[in-house]
Amino acid sequence: MWKRLNIRGIRCFSTANGRLANKVALITGASSGIGREASILFAKEGCKVVACDVNKQGLDETVSHILSLGGSATAQIVDVSNADQFKDAVQVAESKYGGLHVVFNNAGVMLDGDDDAETTTEEIWNKTFDINVKGVWYGCRAALPAIRRSGGGSVINTASFVALRGAATAQLAYTSSKGAVLAMTRELACIHARENIRFNALCPGPIRTDLLMKFLNDEEKRQRRLVHLPMGRFAEAEEMAKAALFLASDDSSYVTGTDFLVDGGLCGAYVTSDKKVSPWRDVPLES
Ligand code: NAD
Repeated sequence: MWKRLNIRGIRCFSTANGRLANKVALITGASSGIGREASILFAKEGCKVVACDVNKQGLDETVSHILSLGGSATAQIVDVSNADQFKDAVQVAESKYGGLHVVFNNAGVMLDGDDDAETTTEEIWNKTFDINVKGVWYGCRAALPAIRRSGGGSVINTASFVALRGAATAQLAYTSSKGAVLAMTRELACIHARENIRFNALCPGPIRTDLLMKFLNDEEKRQRRLVHLPMGRFAEAEEMAKAALFLASDDSSYVTGTDFLVDGGLCGAYVTSDKKVSPWRDVPLES
């Protein structure tokens, strides 16, 4: 585990015995939300992280945070809808850190104007698929030879619970794109299982990150969702990072091809409790 040390008054960490010690990971969407928390957590567990995103400022903040704690990370501008930029990032992983073992294809968008079958435009549909679906494919395609050269590894593709449940609050392009991620991941898992390369889809429930909270900007919209959540609260990005860590590490050595749900019980629910709780973890109901 990440052992706390204190060298000349600076708090830093020994990562030699971490769950991802001696591994190299490429993480997309690392500027915020799940990708940022996963980058930090993976680094705490001894991983060298190539943190990728289109948002340079957020990326620099993520990497500075890791470096300030004594971890290893490098920032790489990658638009996941650009195949060449992915190749560059893989090359950085190999040249700077000597290999590639974990890829977390996590970047994704839910665009304004994504609605139902009649109102969603071609432009919104195509942009959503370019990032959410082709971006995952490009990530897998660019990483596979490097993972093979490293002797195997784990690929985690972020899908969503919306790929498994319908919603009358329509976001048709987004939902369809996440369904494609599930199907792609399952098939890749079958193709590459005997090469010691695992593929799993992470299916988060609704999370308190920018992506969702910019839509759920009033109490009525939040309550419309919360009633379906057995736990009565939204997830935190950190909780998804912990699930991704399990899938990235050898702890999940016999797990491949799964739709790995981390949804607070949402997909198992019919009637939820009427006991009131705060929608935010660690925030009392009345505050
Ligand atoms: P977020 O908005 O905090 O993070 C998404 C990150 O992706 C941002 O840093 C953004 O800059 C980056 N990004 C966007 N387009 C990109 C591109 N073309 N190339 C590279 N990076 C790009 O959101 P989040 O909640 O952390 O989302 C991460 C993933 O989780 C997404 O795939 C999202 O669809 C999925 N997800 C989110 C929720 C939720 O409720 N927030 C639920 C299920 C699944």
